[in-house]
Amino acid sequence: MTWLVILPLAAFFIACGRQEEKPAAVKAEKKLNVVATVAPITSIVENVAGDKIQLKGIIPEGINSHTFEPVPSDVKILATADLLIVNGLDLEIPTLKLAQANMKQGAPVLRVGDKTITEQEYIYDFSFPKDHGHPNPHLWLNPQHAMRYATLVRDELVRLDPENKSAYEANTAVYLKKLEALDQAIEESTKTIPEGNRRLLTYHDSWPYFARRYGFQIIGAVQPSDFSDPSPREVKRLIDQIRKEKVSAVFGSEVFPSPVLEQIAREGKTRYIDKLRDDELPGKPGEPQHSYIGLMVENMTIMFEALGGSTEALKKIDPAPVAGAYADYRRRN
Ligand SMILES: [Zn+2]
Repeated sequence: MTWLVILPLAAFFIACGRQEEKPAAVKAEKKLNVVATVAPITSIVENVAGDKIQLKGIIPEGINSHTFEPVPSDVKILATADLLIVNGLDLEIPTLKLAQANMKQGAPVLRVGDKTITEQEYIYDFSFPKDHGHPNPHLWLNPQHAMRYATLVRDELVRLDPENKSAYEANTAVYLKKLEALDQAIEESTKTIPEGNRRLLTYHDSWPYFARRYGFQIIGAVQPSDFSDPSPREVKRLIDQIRKEKVSAVFGSEVFPSPVLEQIAREGKTRYIDKLRDDELPGKPGEPQHSYIGLMVENMTIMFEALGGSTEALKKIDPAPVAGAYADYRRRN
């Protein structure tokens, strides 16, 4: 009777002892496994975390993130994640569905966009109409929202991995200063654009939160909510508008090559610039410009030059990740 009690107890103590004896170095090597979705968010997480986590971006750069469907082999990535960080605001619905079915029990999902603005601040527009129920999700193109993303990521990493709290806090402090400098450089550069030119006509509708921050007017977007081409009537309406309002340039994006927008620009007798990007970072992983800040500087340089502004202030911005390039980005093909 006595042995029956003592034996399991002894085994219990031995097991506990073993666990406590585990050398600290082994534990430290077990990094938090974090998965992020679009590349700008992966970059923000990379800046906050440096080498303290294992970070993978699941949505490949250069594909349409709005319609991205994870493939069955992505289950493995999600099943081993300790944390999934998404934009939210309905950008990554298929990825979230797969995550909900496959993530470890208790592994959290952080929706940074949902925690950045209130429903009253949601923007609905041509490409994201209110009756479809999905707000325009492109918050990150406003650097002030990116700052909020960074602090949300910091707080969640500190909660899950308190041992590296000081690194997360120090990296974020440096990063927030850099984002602030970016925000100010964009504001300064905006003032150099003739006021009447601060109007945007784009193909992909990704700039409303940017426009709200810096005082641009979105005069139209060409891509309907189902990502098809606009109707001939809509095309004609846009051409008339460009002629009437003397728009100085229309902007396409690398991810969505658009012969329709080219035609609209030609018939509206304005310039067509097809190089904007909302979630494909410039350069290659490991290069300094391959970052969220690099993405903004590249977009602003293209946009502001086309609208007749100066980009001097943007030249001082250093895009490199604050704690090194450690994220595993996925690329198209
Ligand atoms: Zn987009």
